[in-house]
Amino acid sequence: MATARRPDGPKKRQCPMCGQPAESAYRPFCSKRCKELDLGNWLNESYRVPVVETDDMDPDGEDDQFEG
Ligand SMILES: [Zn+2]
Repeated sequence: MATARRPDGPKKRQCPMCGQPAESAYRPFCSKRCKELDLGNWLNESYRVPVVETDDMDPDGEDDQFEG
């Protein structure tokens, strides 16, 4: 039984933005640009208000639990 070593072991991280080898300075990204790009996307996602239909108040369901 020989220890099968994978020649292309995924040791080196790749930039999630462009797929290039990540730089330690900008891990896990390859450059500041990619890092900021990702951060920008992240912030955009945060800022973007998702379309959530409020279930708090539904006009049909008259749930009068508070009496008095
Ligand atoms: Zn990159």
